[in-house]
Amino acid sequence: MEIFKEIQPLRVFLKAKKALGASVGLVPTMGALHKGHIALIEACQKENDLTVCSIYVNPAQFNNTQDLINYPRDLEKDAELLKQAGCNVLFCPSDDQMYSRNRNITFNFGPLEAILEGRYRPGHFSGVALVVGKLFNIVAPDKAYFGQKDWQQLVIIRQLREELKFDLDLRSVPTIREKDGLAMSSRNLRLNEAERIRATVFYKALQEAKKLLSSGQKVEKVKAVVKEMTEQQQDVKLEYFEIAESDNLILINTIEGAKSPILCVAGYVGNVRLIDNMFLDLPDPK
Ligand code: AMP
Repeated sequence: MEIFKEIQPLRVFLKAKKALGASVGLVPTMGALHKGHIALIEACQKENDLTVCSIYVNPAQFNNTQDLINYPRDLEKDAELLKQAGCNVLFCPSDDQMYSRNRNITFNFGPLEAILEGRYRPGHFSGVALVVGKLFNIVAPDKAYFGQKDWQQLVIIRQLREELKFDLDLRSVPTIREKDGLAMSSRNLRLNEAERIRATVFYKALQEAKKLLSSGQKVEKVKAVVKEMTEQQQDVKLEYFEIAESDNLILINTIEGAKSPILCVAGYVGNVRLIDNMFLDLPDPK
């Protein structure tokens, strides 16, 4: 596996490969890799000659300094995992490579970011769009891979691609879960043993909500059930549970007539913030 810390040598390397006809897939990550990330790498390998994984903990997308400081980092272990997975290129730039001193570009995705994660993490999606836009420009991939676990991110990147005319395909990969249903996340590393057990409550609440909605229960009642289920757990705080149309993220209060609804949840276990989601229409992945 080739490892690049700087943009220019990576560009030269990729240009040469592309000139020989190689197709390039990009998997952007923030590291502390787990099987969810590896699923993206594998999806990328199936469809491209060359798989590029980026690892960059992007300061612009953290609206909470403590979260940025506490974000798990282990580049050596990540590089080993990527090598084992057969990834071709690791791009792990420094802040200096990615940002100029007086960074002042922001994005505003309007209604797409006024809700769900965007509502609770102001500026988060502007930071995501900025770094993903940079990565698209640096790597110029044919295809880029994102996880469905961060569904709102996916919708926003779709919008970014459309508005800025990036010439690439976006691919999404279903959420990979632990055996007990907890969605894999780098942040899970920060849970202690007791918190790790309690953290499954978000998955269980999504499952229960899905069951109730499928049997005709009203959205309002289902929201109350989710609130009760989660807040019964010690040290668990529900931030939101919402149902949206998955394509446009319009929040809905009834599932009748709604197009491809997705249930989205976020909350804290101790001081670790977790998110998860589940489609109403698709068969449960577990
Ligand atoms: P992150 O390193 O958390 O920024 O995630 C990098 C990419 O991996 C994003 O596209 C995430 O949506 C995706 N991802 C994170 N966790 C999972 C998971 N459990 N299953 C599938 N994809 C995931």
